[in-house]
Amino acid sequence: MIHTLFLDLGVLFVLCGNSAFEHTPTAAPAVSITVAARSIQPGELVVLTIDTAVRADGLGVRAFNRDMPAVRVGPLQWRALIGIDLGAAAGRYRIFVDARSGSHTTHASQELVVLARRFPTRTLQVDSAFVNPPANVAKRIAREAREMRQLWEQSGPGPHWSEPFVRPVPDPSNSAFGTRSIYNGQPRSQHGGADFLSPTGTPVKAPNAARVLLARELYFLGNTVVLDHGQGLFSILAHLSVLEVRQGDTVTAGQVVGQVGATGRVSGPHLHWAVRVGGSRVDPLSLLALLGRH
Ligand SMILES: [Zn+2]
Repeated sequence: MIHTLFLDLGVLFVLCGNSAFEHTPTAAPAVSITVAARSIQPGELVVLTIDTAVRADGLGVRAFNRDMPAVRVGPLQWRALIGIDLGAAAGRYRIFVDARSGSHTTHASQELVVLARRFPTRTLQVDSAFVNPPANVAKRIAREAREMRQLWEQSGPGPHWSEPFVRPVPDPSNSAFGTRSIYNGQPRSQHGGADFLSPTGTPVKAPNAARVLLARELYFLGNTVVLDHGQGLFSILAHLSVLEVRQGDTVTAGQVVGQVGATGRVSGPHLHWAVRVGGSRVDPLSLLALLGRH
């Protein structure tokens, strides 16, 4: 079923045929790597399709110093997701693929030339407690940041989804991903999600099937749901007024997980949707472009 998700790749950037092959004199499989993305830039999702000449028993993918799960999608085909982190420097990177077949391993690699990306700056007015938090919440903020980082290690290798990804709310995104925010005149870190300007109470849907890793109030993100879609892919849905799932629940694509609100560090009601791929921050709109319903 996952196969059908990729029929729209014609509109996207596709790079292939440059893979470096290493043939051994024995029957080890040749491997080709196809890269699909909106662009090869910081904050973009990259979908790798890996074709092997003979059936591989297992396949390993390594990019940005991280092993990423590869999933078999056909007898001779595998797929892996790579996130180019929002903060990645422009430059030349290499994706490494190991295809194991019996006692043979074939190594292939693909260069990824990450181009520079300029992000805009925005100024926002929020409650001063979110710009210079009182000393007594510093511990809480540090603990929550640590907990969130640990979540990105918890995804299973296989995807929990088999359908295309869907928008969590019908309203458009203001494309604030990557923007450098200045809160009450003070610069803060880049915006790691996309904001959807939906009114309070709008139902927020799970972008796809997932396990609920977290469903509670956080200092900056307010009422938050973290979803593990599997295969190293996570959604964060934040600033909710109401939570309608609990940690440990499983949800289906489009299932309501809460309602839009204005909790946490906000200047008004909206949905903040952030996506992590292997810990890398990527634009949710790049996920929709590559794996979404069209
Ligand atoms: Zn946001």
